[in-house]
Amino acid sequence: MNKQIPFNKPYLTGKETHYIYQAVHSGKISGNGEFTKKCQRYFEDNLLLGKSLLTTSCTDALEMSAILIHLKEGDEVILPSYTFVSTANAFVLRGAKLVFADSNPDNPNMDAQQIESLISPKTKAIVVVHYAGIACDMDPIQQIAKKYNLFLIEDAAQAVDSYYKGKALGSFGDLSAFSFHETKNIQSGEGGLLGINNKFFEERAEIIWEKGTNRAAFFRGEVDKYGWVDIGSSFLPSEIIAAFLFAQIENIQDIQKRRKEIWDRYKKHLSPVEGKVQFPFIPPYATNNAHMFYLVCSSLQDRTALVAHLKSKGIYAAFHYISLHSSPYYQNKHDGRILKETDRYSDCLLRLPLYYELSDSEVDYICQEVLNYYGI
Ligand SMILES: *Cc1c(COP(=O)(O)O)cnc(C)c1O
Repeated sequence: MNKQIPFNKPYLTGKETHYIYQAVHSGKISGNGEFTKKCQRYFEDNLLLGKSLLTTSCTDALEMSAILIHLKEGDEVILPSYTFVSTANAFVLRGAKLVFADSNPDNPNMDAQQIESLISPKTKAIVVVHYAGIACDMDPIQQIAKKYNLFLIEDAAQAVDSYYKGKALGSFGDLSAFSFHETKNIQSGEGGLLGINNKFFEERAEIIWEKGTNRAAFFRGEVDKYGWVDIGSSFLPSEIIAAFLFAQIENIQDIQKRRKEIWDRYKKHLSPVEGKVQFPFIPPYATNNAHMFYLVCSSLQDRTALVAHLKSKGIYAAFHYISLHSSPYYQNKHDGRILKETDRYSDCLLRLPLYYELSDSEVDYICQEVLNYYGI
């Protein structure tokens, strides 16, 4: 009888239902209440975001970003092709043309050196994705954004508690988006947060968040009535979600400590296969927030066979993104450039199980099966 090891198991700290109970009985269950404010304060104080707004997903935070930068039909946005569909969809929804950058050979983040050559007079924004929570090279990217007067947006969905040269990811872009989907380090089932580091966007972000009304300002007593002042939607989660998330935030250090132990254990025990597969590369300017442990196999065939071997041992490993530039929706709209590294990660990258409750002996078992597969 094999053990069964899922790819992910959402971790509960124990306080979630307690705080939900409090939220439910507080008499204020809709959004922007006490738990929402506590969650936002954590991000503002600890990650040094200018201001933050809790959203129902990272996807929503990205959609808010696209509205905030006044993206118009035909504007161009530069982003990686190796990313989740929401990074692209948020901008496509507003009529943008996507200009995909290839990934680095040594990790799936977008190649900062390529960005400048992709800029045209229509370019409006650069969207970076910190893959696996590992920072993109922000200095040159910020310089290019500044030189060409482009907005910089960070998809920091995977990047909570991760840093570039000591500064938190999510605090670099004019706007940034975090995810609390159940597959992320801290989670609320579904959930997200918009970081606003450019003061210019603060007031309007709150209006877009509250259905295009100045309701939040009204509740602070800044205006004596509220009404429809701009476009917007309902992007804020209820206090029930915020209460759940707050329990996770309170335990973030413990969660991160355990995830890093698991990550380090994988790295150590799998070291004999380094060379046969490519390991995650963490540049000297970046930290590791242990969002993910992945291997890059030498070919699609190799990955497929490894997945099957692990599955036969009850271990569920998962590949990741299918290149967006060759997706059914976008392939005919893509400018035709070959994105070699993106396609390689698409074919060859494999993520191993990584969740708080994964035990040391389970990690050892997974490592042993990877070594067995490679005949080591
Ligand atoms: C998870 C993820 C998202 C989407 O997050 P949701 O909260 O599910 O909307 C977007 N981008 C990246 C890179 C992600 O990993």
